Amino acid sequence: MGHYKEYLLKLKNATKEENIQLNVEMKKHTSFRVGGPVDVLVTPESYEEVINIIKVCKGENIPYYIIGNGSNLLIKDGGLRGIAIKLSKLNKVTVDGAKIIAQSGASIGSVSIVAREAKLSGLEFACGIPGSVGGAIAMNAGAYDGEMSYITESALIIDENGELKTLSKEQLKLGYRTSAIIVNKYIVLEVTFSLRNWEYENIKKKMDELMQRRREKQPLEYPSAGSTFKRPVGYFAGKLIEDSGLKGTNVGGAEVSDKHSGFIINKGNATAKDILDLIELVQNTVMKKYNVELHPEIRIIGEDGNTEQN
Ligand SMILES: Cc1cc2nc3c(=O)[nH]c(=O)nc-3n(C[C@H](O)[C@H](O)[C@H](O)COP(=O)(O)OP(=O)(O)OC[C@H]3O[C@@H](n4cnc5c(N)ncnc54)[C@H](O)[C@@H]3O)c2cc1C
Repeated sequence: MGHYKEYLLKLKNATKEENIQLNVEMKKHTSFRVGGPVDVLVTPESYEEVINIIKVCKGENIPYYIIGNGSNLLIKDGGLRGIAIKLSKLNKVTVDGAKIIAQSGASIGSVSIVAREAKLSGLEFACGIPGSVGGAIAMNAGAYDGEMSYITESALIIDENGELKTLSKEQLKLGYRTSAIIVNKYIVLEVTFSLRNWEYENIKKKMDELMQRRREKQPLEYPSAGSTFKRPVGYFAGKLIEDSGLKGTNVGGAEVSDKHSGFIINKGNATAKDILDLIELVQNTVMKKYNVELHPEIRIIGEDGNTEQN
Protein backbone atom coordinates (compact mmCIF):
# COMPACT_ATOMS: atom_id res chain seq x y z
CA MET A 1 0.00 0.00 0.00
CA GLY A 2 3.08 2.26 -0.19
CA HIS A 3 1.90 3.97 -3.34
CA TYR A 4 -1.72 4.23 -2.23
CA LYS A 5 -1.76 8.04 -2.39
CA GLU A 6 -0.17 8.10 -5.85
CA TYR A 7 -2.64 5.71 -7.39
CA LEU A 8 -5.54 7.53 -5.77
CA LEU A 9 -4.39 10.68 -7.54
CA LYS A 10 -4.33 8.79 -10.83
CA LEU A 11 -7.78 7.35 -10.13
CA LYS A 12 -9.09 10.89 -9.65
CA ASN A 13 -8.00 11.61 -13.22
CA ALA A 14 -9.68 8.43 -14.42
CA THR A 15 -13.13 9.14 -12.96
CA LYS A 16 -14.93 11.83 -10.96
CA GLU A 17 -13.93 12.17 -7.33
CA GLU A 18 -17.45 11.41 -6.14
CA ASN A 19 -17.20 8.00 -7.83
CA ILE A 20 -14.34 6.98 -5.52
CA GLN A 21 -14.97 5.77 -1.98
CA LEU A 22 -12.35 4.57 0.47
CA ASN A 23 -12.50 1.72 2.96
CA VAL A 24 -16.00 0.51 2.06
CA GLU A 25 -17.61 -2.42 3.90
CA MET A 26 -18.38 -4.94 1.18
CA LYS A 27 -21.19 -6.50 3.24
CA LYS A 28 -23.27 -3.58 1.94
CA HIS A 29 -22.59 -4.78 -1.61
CA THR A 30 -23.26 -8.53 -1.32
CA SER A 31 -26.57 -10.36 -1.01
CA PHE A 32 -25.05 -12.60 1.71
CA ARG A 33 -24.52 -9.38 3.74
CA VAL A 34 -21.00 -10.46 4.70
CA GLY A 35 -17.55 -9.28 3.62
CA GLY A 36 -14.86 -7.03 5.04
CA PRO A 37 -13.77 -3.66 3.64
CA VAL A 38 -12.28 -2.95 0.24
CA ASP A 39 -9.50 -0.34 0.06
CA VAL A 40 -11.19 1.55 -2.78
CA LEU A 41 -14.61 1.22 -4.42
CA VAL A 42 -15.11 2.97 -7.75
CA THR A 43 -18.38 3.39 -9.58
CA PRO A 44 -17.54 4.68 -13.08
CA GLU A 45 -20.14 6.42 -15.22
CA SER A 46 -18.87 5.74 -18.73
CA TYR A 47 -17.03 3.07 -20.69
CA GLU A 48 -14.14 5.48 -21.08
CA GLU A 49 -13.87 5.81 -17.30
CA VAL A 50 -13.83 2.02 -16.92
CA ILE A 51 -10.98 1.78 -19.46
CA ASN A 52 -9.07 4.56 -17.67
CA ILE A 53 -9.49 2.85 -14.28
CA ILE A 54 -8.23 -0.47 -15.68
CA LYS A 55 -5.22 1.36 -17.14
CA VAL A 56 -4.40 2.78 -13.70
CA CYS A 57 -4.78 -0.66 -12.08
CA LYS A 58 -2.57 -2.37 -14.64
CA GLY A 59 -0.01 0.46 -14.71
CA GLU A 60 0.26 0.59 -10.92
CA ASN A 61 -0.05 -3.17 -10.46
CA ILE A 62 -3.11 -2.86 -8.23
CA PRO A 63 -5.42 -5.86 -7.93
CA TYR A 64 -8.99 -5.14 -9.09
CA TYR A 65 -12.30 -6.96 -8.87
CA ILE A 66 -15.44 -6.45 -10.92
CA ILE A 67 -18.51 -6.48 -8.73
CA GLY A 68 -22.01 -6.82 -10.12
CA ASN A 69 -24.92 -6.96 -7.67
CA GLY A 70 -22.85 -9.19 -5.39
CA SER A 71 -25.55 -11.88 -5.50
CA ASN A 72 -23.16 -14.73 -6.21
CA LEU A 73 -20.21 -13.48 -4.20
CA LEU A 74 -18.74 -14.48 -0.87
CA ILE A 75 -16.23 -11.83 0.16
CA LYS A 76 -14.09 -12.94 3.09
CA ASP A 77 -14.03 -11.09 6.41
CA GLY A 78 -10.63 -9.46 5.79
CA GLY A 79 -12.05 -7.76 2.70
CA LEU A 80 -10.30 -6.90 -0.54
CA ARG A 81 -6.92 -5.26 -1.07
CA GLY A 82 -6.95 -3.03 -4.11
CA ILE A 83 -9.94 -1.74 -6.06
CA ALA A 84 -13.48 -3.02 -6.46
CA ILE A 85 -15.11 -1.70 -9.63
CA LYS A 86 -18.89 -1.66 -9.49
CA LEU A 87 -20.68 -0.88 -12.77
CA SER A 88 -24.11 -0.08 -11.30
CA LYS A 89 -24.11 3.43 -12.83
CA LEU A 90 -23.85 1.91 -16.32
CA ASN A 91 -27.42 0.69 -16.45
CA LYS A 92 -29.00 1.89 -19.71
CA VAL A 93 -31.32 -0.53 -21.51
CA THR A 94 -32.34 0.00 -25.17
CA VAL A 95 -34.89 -1.90 -27.27
CA ASP A 96 -34.15 -2.22 -30.98
CA GLY A 97 -36.76 -4.35 -32.75
CA ALA A 98 -36.47 -7.85 -31.27
CA LYS A 99 -33.09 -7.05 -29.73
CA ILE A 100 -32.28 -5.52 -26.35
CA ILE A 101 -28.97 -3.85 -25.67
CA ALA A 102 -28.32 -3.64 -21.94
CA GLN A 103 -25.39 -2.09 -20.12
CA SER A 104 -23.81 -4.49 -17.66
CA GLY A 105 -24.81 -2.63 -14.49
CA ALA A 106 -28.55 -2.91 -15.23
CA SER A 107 -30.26 -5.58 -13.17
CA ILE A 108 -31.20 -8.63 -15.24
CA GLY A 109 -34.65 -8.51 -13.58
CA SER A 110 -35.26 -4.98 -14.85
CA VAL A 111 -34.15 -6.01 -18.35
CA SER A 112 -36.69 -8.85 -18.25
CA ILE A 113 -39.39 -6.29 -17.41
CA VAL A 114 -38.30 -4.07 -20.33
CA ALA A 115 -38.54 -7.17 -22.56
CA ARG A 116 -42.04 -7.97 -21.27
CA GLU A 117 -43.22 -4.41 -21.88
CA ALA A 118 -41.80 -4.58 -25.43
CA LYS A 119 -43.62 -7.92 -25.91
CA LEU A 120 -40.33 -9.78 -26.30
CA SER A 121 -39.93 -13.31 -24.97
CA GLY A 122 -36.80 -15.18 -23.86
CA LEU A 123 -35.89 -13.45 -20.60
CA GLU A 124 -38.78 -14.71 -18.49
CA PHE A 125 -36.52 -17.24 -16.74
CA ALA A 126 -34.36 -14.40 -15.43
CA CYS A 127 -37.07 -12.25 -13.83
CA GLY A 128 -36.27 -13.46 -10.29
CA ILE A 129 -32.48 -13.66 -10.58
CA PRO A 130 -31.09 -10.82 -8.44
CA GLY A 131 -27.90 -10.25 -10.49
CA SER A 132 -26.72 -7.58 -12.88
CA VAL A 133 -26.48 -8.14 -16.64
CA GLY A 134 -22.67 -8.40 -16.32
CA GLY A 135 -22.86 -10.95 -13.51
CA ALA A 136 -25.59 -12.93 -15.27
CA ILE A 137 -23.58 -13.28 -18.48
CA ALA A 138 -20.30 -13.97 -16.65
CA MET A 139 -21.96 -16.79 -14.68
CA ASN A 140 -24.24 -17.83 -17.58
CA ALA A 141 -27.08 -17.59 -15.05
CA GLY A 142 -29.97 -19.92 -15.62
CA ALA A 143 -33.22 -21.15 -14.13
CA TYR A 144 -36.34 -23.08 -15.11
CA ASP A 145 -34.99 -24.39 -18.44
CA GLY A 146 -33.65 -21.00 -19.50
CA GLU A 147 -30.11 -19.64 -19.46
CA MET A 148 -28.24 -16.61 -20.72
CA SER A 149 -26.58 -18.53 -23.56
CA TYR A 150 -29.99 -19.12 -25.25
CA ILE A 151 -30.68 -15.41 -25.78
CA THR A 152 -27.24 -13.79 -25.94
CA GLU A 153 -26.09 -12.52 -29.31
CA SER A 154 -22.85 -10.72 -28.35
CA ALA A 155 -21.16 -8.67 -25.65
CA LEU A 156 -18.95 -5.61 -25.62
CA ILE A 157 -16.02 -6.36 -23.32
CA ILE A 158 -12.63 -5.09 -22.22
CA ASP A 159 -10.11 -7.87 -22.76
CA GLU A 160 -7.05 -8.82 -20.70
CA ASN A 161 -4.96 -6.19 -22.53
CA GLY A 162 -7.40 -3.42 -21.67
CA GLU A 163 -8.85 -3.29 -25.20
CA LEU A 164 -12.49 -2.96 -26.23
CA LYS A 165 -13.87 -5.90 -28.21
CA THR A 166 -17.22 -7.26 -29.32
CA LEU A 167 -17.41 -11.00 -28.73
CA SER A 168 -19.98 -13.32 -30.30
CA LYS A 169 -21.91 -15.81 -28.18
CA GLU A 170 -19.51 -18.54 -29.35
CA GLN A 171 -16.48 -16.52 -28.28
CA LEU A 172 -18.04 -15.94 -24.87
CA LYS A 173 -17.97 -19.74 -24.29
CA LEU A 174 -20.98 -19.74 -21.99
CA GLY A 175 -20.92 -23.01 -20.00
CA TYR A 176 -22.51 -24.27 -16.81
CA ARG A 177 -22.06 -21.28 -14.44
CA THR A 178 -18.89 -20.21 -16.22
CA SER A 179 -17.70 -18.38 -19.34
CA ALA A 180 -14.66 -16.96 -21.10
CA ILE A 181 -15.41 -13.82 -19.07
CA ILE A 182 -14.67 -15.59 -15.78
CA VAL A 183 -11.75 -17.60 -17.17
CA ASN A 184 -10.00 -14.64 -18.86
CA LYS A 185 -11.13 -11.89 -16.45
CA TYR A 186 -12.85 -9.91 -19.21
CA ILE A 187 -14.95 -6.95 -18.15
CA VAL A 188 -18.41 -6.86 -19.68
CA LEU A 189 -19.73 -3.42 -20.59
CA GLU A 190 -22.89 -4.31 -22.49
CA VAL A 191 -24.78 -7.30 -23.82
CA THR A 192 -27.02 -7.64 -26.88
CA PHE A 193 -29.90 -10.06 -26.44
CA SER A 194 -31.81 -11.59 -29.32
CA LEU A 195 -35.45 -12.21 -28.34
CA ARG A 196 -38.68 -13.14 -30.11
CA ASN A 197 -42.10 -11.52 -30.28
CA TRP A 198 -44.82 -12.96 -28.06
CA GLU A 199 -48.06 -11.81 -26.43
CA TYR A 200 -47.64 -9.57 -23.38
CA GLU A 201 -50.16 -11.63 -21.39
CA ASN A 202 -48.31 -14.89 -22.07
CA ILE A 203 -44.99 -13.41 -21.00
CA LYS A 204 -46.51 -11.94 -17.85
CA LYS A 205 -48.21 -15.21 -16.93
CA LYS A 206 -44.95 -17.13 -17.29
CA MET A 207 -43.04 -14.60 -15.19
CA ASP A 208 -45.70 -14.54 -12.47
CA GLU A 209 -45.63 -18.34 -12.27
CA LEU A 210 -41.84 -18.49 -12.01
CA MET A 211 -41.79 -15.79 -9.31
CA GLN A 212 -44.41 -17.71 -7.37
CA ARG A 213 -42.33 -20.91 -7.59
CA ARG A 214 -39.30 -19.00 -6.27
CA ARG A 215 -41.25 -17.56 -3.35
CA GLU A 216 -42.57 -21.02 -2.44
CA LYS A 217 -39.29 -22.91 -2.76
CA GLN A 218 -36.52 -20.45 -1.86
CA PRO A 219 -35.69 -18.77 1.48
CA LEU A 220 -35.93 -15.27 0.00
CA GLU A 221 -36.55 -13.80 3.46
CA TYR A 222 -32.86 -14.38 4.41
CA PRO A 223 -29.64 -13.07 2.89
CA SER A 224 -27.98 -15.69 0.66
CA ALA A 225 -26.21 -16.05 -2.66
CA GLY A 226 -28.76 -18.45 -4.13
CA SER A 227 -27.65 -22.05 -4.67
CA THR A 228 -24.36 -22.48 -2.86
CA PHE A 229 -23.12 -25.44 -4.90
CA LYS A 230 -23.08 -26.42 -8.54
CA ARG A 231 -25.24 -29.35 -9.59
CA PRO A 232 -23.03 -32.46 -9.58
CA VAL A 233 -23.51 -34.60 -12.69
CA GLY A 234 -26.39 -37.01 -12.10
CA TYR A 235 -27.52 -35.47 -8.78
CA PHE A 236 -29.15 -32.41 -7.23
CA ALA A 237 -26.99 -30.69 -4.63
CA GLY A 238 -30.00 -29.75 -2.45
CA LYS A 239 -31.30 -33.33 -2.34
CA LEU A 240 -27.86 -34.78 -1.48
CA ILE A 241 -27.51 -32.23 1.33
CA GLU A 242 -30.99 -32.91 2.66
CA ASP A 243 -30.52 -36.70 2.46
CA SER A 244 -27.26 -36.29 4.38
CA GLY A 245 -29.32 -34.94 7.27
CA LEU A 246 -27.88 -31.43 7.02
CA LYS A 247 -31.09 -29.40 6.74
CA GLY A 248 -31.01 -26.66 9.37
CA THR A 249 -27.35 -27.38 10.31
CA ASN A 250 -25.57 -24.22 11.34
CA VAL A 251 -22.12 -22.80 12.01
CA GLY A 252 -22.38 -19.50 13.86
CA GLY A 253 -24.90 -17.41 11.95
CA ALA A 254 -24.70 -19.49 8.76
CA GLU A 255 -27.34 -22.16 8.22
CA VAL A 256 -28.39 -24.76 5.66
CA SER A 257 -31.86 -23.46 4.82
CA ASP A 258 -34.83 -25.48 6.13
CA LYS A 259 -36.79 -24.43 3.09
CA HIS A 260 -34.20 -25.33 0.42
CA SER A 261 -31.11 -27.32 1.41
CA GLY A 262 -29.22 -26.04 -1.63
CA PHE A 263 -29.14 -22.57 -0.04
CA ILE A 264 -26.85 -21.50 2.78
CA ILE A 265 -28.44 -18.49 4.48
CA ASN A 266 -27.23 -15.77 6.82
CA LYS A 267 -29.52 -15.90 9.85
CA GLY A 268 -28.47 -12.42 10.95
CA ASN A 269 -24.90 -12.20 12.15
CA ALA A 270 -22.97 -14.69 10.04
CA THR A 271 -19.36 -14.01 9.11
CA ALA A 272 -17.81 -15.16 5.85
CA LYS A 273 -15.84 -17.64 7.97
CA ASP A 274 -19.07 -19.16 9.33
CA ILE A 275 -20.28 -19.64 5.75
CA LEU A 276 -16.96 -21.11 4.58
CA ASP A 277 -16.83 -23.50 7.54
CA LEU A 278 -20.40 -24.61 6.84
CA ILE A 279 -19.56 -25.13 3.15
CA GLU A 280 -16.68 -27.39 4.20
CA LEU A 281 -18.85 -29.29 6.65
CA VAL A 282 -21.47 -29.89 3.94
CA GLN A 283 -18.83 -30.96 1.40
CA ASN A 284 -17.21 -33.41 3.84
CA THR A 285 -20.52 -34.91 4.97
CA VAL A 286 -21.85 -35.40 1.43
CA MET A 287 -18.51 -36.89 0.34
CA LYS A 288 -18.56 -39.37 3.25
CA LYS A 289 -22.19 -40.40 2.67
CA TYR A 290 -22.43 -40.39 -1.11
CA ASN A 291 -18.87 -40.12 -2.40
CA VAL A 292 -19.92 -37.03 -4.40
CA GLU A 293 -17.79 -33.90 -4.54
CA LEU A 294 -19.70 -30.64 -4.23
CA HIS A 295 -18.14 -27.55 -5.82
CA PRO A 296 -19.25 -24.07 -4.78
CA GLU A 297 -21.18 -22.15 -7.41
CA ILE A 298 -20.59 -18.93 -5.52
CA ARG A 299 -17.41 -16.97 -6.20
CA ILE A 300 -15.18 -16.68 -3.13
CA ILE A 301 -12.73 -13.76 -2.99
CA GLY A 302 -10.80 -11.66 -0.48
CA GLU A 303 -8.62 -12.15 2.56
CA ASP A 304 -9.30 -14.05 5.76
CA GLY A 305 -10.33 -11.87 8.67
CA ASN A 306 -8.76 -11.43 12.04
CA THR A 307 -10.02 -14.55 13.86
CA GLU A 308 -10.37 -12.64 17.16
CA GLN A 309 -13.11 -10.44 15.75
CA ASN A 310 -14.89 -13.47 14.21
C1 LIG B 1 -32.09 -15.35 -3.91
C2 LIG B 1 -31.14 -15.69 -5.04
C3 LIG B 1 -31.60 -16.45 -6.11
C4 LIG B 1 -30.72 -16.76 -7.17
N1 LIG B 1 -31.19 -17.48 -8.22
C5 LIG B 1 -30.37 -17.81 -9.24
C6 LIG B 1 -30.84 -18.58 -10.35
O1 LIG B 1 -32.01 -18.96 -10.44
N2 LIG B 1 -29.96 -18.89 -11.33
C7 LIG B 1 -28.65 -18.47 -11.30
O2 LIG B 1 -27.91 -18.78 -12.24
N3 LIG B 1 -28.19 -17.74 -10.26
C8 LIG B 1 -29.00 -17.39 -9.24
N4 LIG B 1 -28.53 -16.65 -8.19
C9 LIG B 1 -27.11 -16.25 -8.16
C10 LIG B 1 -26.82 -14.89 -8.80
O3 LIG B 1 -27.94 -14.03 -8.74
C11 LIG B 1 -26.38 -15.04 -10.26
O4 LIG B 1 -25.20 -15.80 -10.39
C12 LIG B 1 -26.11 -13.66 -10.90
O5 LIG B 1 -25.94 -13.86 -12.28
C13 LIG B 1 -24.88 -12.96 -10.32
O6 LIG B 1 -24.87 -11.63 -10.81
P1 LIG B 1 -24.22 -10.43 -9.98
O7 LIG B 1 -24.33 -9.20 -10.79
O8 LIG B 1 -24.81 -10.38 -8.62
O9 LIG B 1 -22.71 -10.90 -9.95
P2 LIG B 1 -21.69 -10.84 -8.71
O10 LIG B 1 -22.15 -11.78 -7.65
O11 LIG B 1 -21.43 -9.45 -8.32
O12 LIG B 1 -20.40 -11.45 -9.43
C14 LIG B 1 -20.37 -12.81 -9.84
C15 LIG B 1 -19.18 -12.99 -10.78
O13 LIG B 1 -19.42 -12.26 -11.99
C16 LIG B 1 -18.36 -11.33 -12.22
N5 LIG B 1 -18.94 -10.13 -12.84
C17 LIG B 1 -19.97 -9.38 -12.41
N6 LIG B 1 -20.20 -8.36 -13.25
C18 LIG B 1 -19.28 -8.46 -14.24
C19 LIG B 1 -18.95 -7.68 -15.39
N7 LIG B 1 -19.64 -6.58 -15.71
N8 LIG B 1 -17.91 -8.07 -16.16
C20 LIG B 1 -17.19 -9.18 -15.85
N9 LIG B 1 -17.42 -9.95 -14.78
C21 LIG B 1 -18.47 -9.60 -13.98
C22 LIG B 1 -17.75 -11.05 -10.87
O14 LIG B 1 -16.41 -10.61 -10.99
C23 LIG B 1 -17.88 -12.42 -10.20
O15 LIG B 1 -16.82 -13.27 -10.61
C24 LIG B 1 -29.38 -16.32 -7.14
C25 LIG B 1 -28.93 -15.52 -6.06
C26 LIG B 1 -29.80 -15.22 -5.01
C27 LIG B 1 -29.31 -14.36 -3.89
